[in-house]
Amino acid sequence: MAITPLMPVYPRCGVRPVRGEHCHLIDEDGTRYLDFASGIAVNLLGHSHEGLIGAIQKQAETLMHVSNLYGSPQGEKLAQMLVDNTFADTVFFTNSGAEAVETAIKTARAYHQSAGNDHKHELITFTNAFHGRTMATISASNQTKMHHGFQPLLEGFKYCEFDDLEMAESLIGPNTAGFLVEPIQGEGGIRPASDAFIKGLRALADEHDLMLALDEVQCGVARTGKLYAYEHYGITPDIVATAKGIGGGFPLGACLATEKAARGMTFGTHGSTYGGNPLAMAAGTAVMEAVANEAFLANVRETGERIRTRLEQFIGNYPDLFELVRGKGLMLGIKMKVESRPFFVHLRDNHQLLMVAAGDNTLRLLPPLVIGDAEIEEFFEKLSAGAADYKIPEAS
Ligand SMILES: *Cc1c(COP(=O)(O)O)cnc(C)c1O
Repeated sequence: MAITPLMPVYPRCGVRPVRGEHCHLIDEDGTRYLDFASGIAVNLLGHSHEGLIGAIQKQAETLMHVSNLYGSPQGEKLAQMLVDNTFADTVFFTNSGAEAVETAIKTARAYHQSAGNDHKHELITFTNAFHGRTMATISASNQTKMHHGFQPLLEGFKYCEFDDLEMAESLIGPNTAGFLVEPIQGEGGIRPASDAFIKGLRALADEHDLMLALDEVQCGVARTGKLYAYEHYGITPDIVATAKGIGGGFPLGACLATEKAARGMTFGTHGSTYGGNPLAMAAGTAVMEAVANEAFLANVRETGERIRTRLEQFIGNYPDLFELVRGKGLMLGIKMKVESRPFFVHLRDNHQLLMVAAGDNTLRLLPPLVIGDAEIEEFFEKLSAGAADYKIPEAS
């Protein structure tokens, strides 16, 4: 048999972590890596965080799972925390980001269709977006590499150039239900939408009675130094999909919505067996208790600024390698002038620094939000050493 027991959909690298300690991962053979990937913006409290472990342990001993047929004191508590700290009036819990986006898509359609506007089903989505790997979420992205082999796609998505407000307006038609957009594209290369774009989408949504649904699966949960990235833009969304960081490493996602936006999400319209189970709620509550306060958020902003300033100075030493730094808070990208992937592999294999490659030849920095001076020093040592001994591969 040639196929591996793990379905071979990931080109896995040689790093095989078996333990995590704060901002480091330790490999099977004992090698220590500085983790500036955080499981792709997931482990925001780092690895082996005592509070998070304690909350999960205690809940696992008490009650791990019950059906959503029963009342949920654990879910009510976390939903209330999210409602108190965001624009949302109501929350649906999922197990992943794609499911949170799926719920956002269904909520946007149901907003119109529950009011008798059955033709309104189209969402305007944006180039180089990433919304997940389910049929609906790959259909929502124009990235054809995710479509190959999985046709036909789901109907009802119109692709618009990211950050192009004029084009977004021109795509609005009688079937439009709303917009689905990442305020800061993650996989697309840490590309923040402009202020005018997000504010403009809000205005268009108001004018045409459309849903503004944000995919904050990567940029949400304190990553950018605000609890959610929409706060940077001074707007109120209708729907937000969140996941990744919200469980701190425990699989958890959520769809947040205003009361108005959720008008179609009534008894029996949606569900999930695991979604919102007590164990996940304990993890999410521990994360929210740690991050949803101004002191924590201000520290993320301050740390992000410090790293960014140093990065901007640093890249000036290597004008052939690096172009610019972009992003917000601790969601930062270094756009390279050469292919970013081989450099990311070089840092990983020769300097034990883990980052994430992204679109547009960008190197993503997504460190745990709890990094301190020691980790920042270690990061710059590894990055400097890595840039100094990097040989740009010959174009093949
Ligand atoms: C990771 C990601 C998703 C998908 O989340 P999964 O948990 O992998 O399903 C969706 N949207 C964005 C912006 C993401 O970064």
